[in-house]
This record gives sequence, C-alpha cells and structure tokens, in this order.
Amino acid sequence: MQSNGKHDLIKRACGFASPFRIERGEEFRLRDIDPGDTLHLGSEDKDRAREALSMGIELLAEFQDKLYAQDRWALLLIFQAMDAAGKDGTIKHVMSGINPQGCQVSSFKAPSPVDLDHDFLWRCMQQLPERGRIGIFNRSYYEDTLVVRVHPELLQQQKIPPELVGKDIWKERFRDIRHYENYLANNGIIVRKFFLHVSKKEQKRRFLERLEKPEKNWKFSANDIRERAFWDDYMEAYEDMIRHTATKEAPWYVVPADNKWFTRVAVAAAIIETLVSLDLHYPKLSKEALEQLDQAKQALLSEG
Ligand code: AMP
Ligand code: MG
Repeated sequence: MQSNGKHDLIKRACGFASPFRIERGEEFRLRDIDPGDTLHLGSEDKDRAREALSMGIELLAEFQDKLYAQDRWALLLIFQAMDAAGKDGTIKHVMSGINPQGCQVSSFKAPSPVDLDHDFLWRCMQQLPERGRIGIFNRSYYEDTLVVRVHPELLQQQKIPPELVGKDIWKERFRDIRHYENYLANNGIIVRKFFLHVSKKEQKRRFLERLEKPEKNWKFSANDIRERAFWDDYMEAYEDMIRHTATKEAPWYVVPADNKWFTRVAVAAAIIETLVSLDLHYPKLSKEALEQLDQAKQALLSEG
C-alpha cells in the first residue's frame, strides 16, 4: 500500500477506534455508549465504510507479516458479548486477510470437568498466542465474572474451598485479572478486549431471523432465550467488569453492535491502532548476516 494512503488510513482508523476505548474504568457507564451509534455515518455511507474496511484488512495483513517476522510481540484479542451480538462474524471478517499461520482462535464454552479441576484462568493460559502471533479468544476468563456471576450455581461447581468464596469474590477476580493482564503486558503480550454492545431490541430481531431463515436455524440455541431473560443482570455484570478491568495496558473497546458493518470497521480500526503503536518492522540483519546472504547469492549465480 502507498505510504500516503496508509498514513491517511491509520489516521482514520484511530478516529473510529478511540471514541470506544476505555482505559480508566472508574467512571465508565454502559449507558454512555449507544449500541446504534455509527459516529454520524448513515446507511448511505455503508459502501464507503466497506471499502475502508477492505483497505484496513489489507493493512492488517501487512502489520501481521511484520509481527510474525519480528517474533517479539504477541497480540491477544478478547471478544465478549451477549448472544447474536456478532462476535463470530466480526472475527471472520476482520481477520479474513490474515495469514492463518500467524493466527489462532480459541472459543471458550462451558468448562469441562478437567477445567473445573483447575483455577479459572488455567484453560485460557494454555491458549495464549506465541510471540509473533495474533491470538483471538471468542469468550474468555471474563465469563467467570459474567455468566458465573449471573448464575451463582455455576460458582458452586467450580470446587473452590467454601471459605474462599466470600462477598468480595468478584472484586478479587477483577484484581487477579488486572494483575494477570499486567503480567502479560510486561512479557510483550499485548491484550485488547472488545465488548460488542448490542441492544436487547436488536438481539430479538436477530433471534427471530435465526428462527425464520433455514440457513440460520443452526445458530439458534434454546439456551439463548433463557439467558436473554437475565439481560439486566448481564448488563450490570458487564458494566462492573469494565469498570474494574479497563486499564491503560489492557483497555476495553465497547463497540456499538446494532449495525454489523459499523462493528467490523470499529474493531478493525482498534486492531490497526494497536499494531501501529508497536512500531513493527522486519528484523534488521547484522553486517555478517548480510555478507552471508551475498555469498549465498554469488554461489547460486555461479551455478551456471
Ligand atoms: P456459544 O459461544 O454461543 O457457543 O456459547 C458458549 C456458552 O458457554 C455460553 O453460554 C457461555 O456463557 C458458556 N460459558 C463460557 N464460559 C463459561 C464458564 N466459565 N462457565 C460457564 N459457562 C461458560
Ligand atoms: Mg451462542
């Protein structure tokens, strides 16, 4: 990509991402973010947004190539959301230009008996991206402060000694997560977290679509309706989670999710914003290594 166009695109990306980046949780209120927000872009701008997204995806591929070659940093992208908010589609679209060798996606569902025999971070730690890679968590250890908080019987299943389960358990988990993410940052693993914020009304529309369109039926689970009934509890849990775990090293992006085209642009923009901040470059070879390359070239050319 031409460097002029690239500079412009990066500037625009930062403009799409920064309004939704939360680095200081204390003052965060979920009601300040409108799920229908499109930063004043109307549906007439959709095509231009799609064009910008495909350029953004190209740029992401360039960054990822350098990340991989440099083999120093790793990027961990965590996605959390209510059902039908568009996690899977966003991951699919935004990462579509990425070299699969440099990327790993892990989905965290209800924990297995083996998972429940360990602390709540254990299963996620095993899936951390290697240096040079982008790791994507489709749900994460944050579920242990969300679904487990909304359904206290799940906490019982976690086999924690009862004397360790007190009224401060969520505050303790948030503190442990903050420290853990700080530890990751100190080790060159950059953590960025996305809450795709869909409205209850739009979720209903998407559930109905899943029920009505045969090609979408497979996406529907009866459990989704049961969880919808706990909407307000979930919103409280999400807000509290963001208030306690949004930090400078590991910010949350609370991304409006009622318009899929906008969600994808904002998420791609946030990843671009993050990768730009790493000042990625291809490894610079030493004088000796360059001499070796020259010798290899001469040897090949003299083969005749
Ligand atoms: P889905 O991502 O739609 O396939 O659903 C996965 C389900 O696993 C969701 O209902 C999550 O709430 C649930 N889940 C993920 N992590 C946990 C956890 N730590 N404890 C209990 N349920 C979980
Ligand atoms: Mg689901």
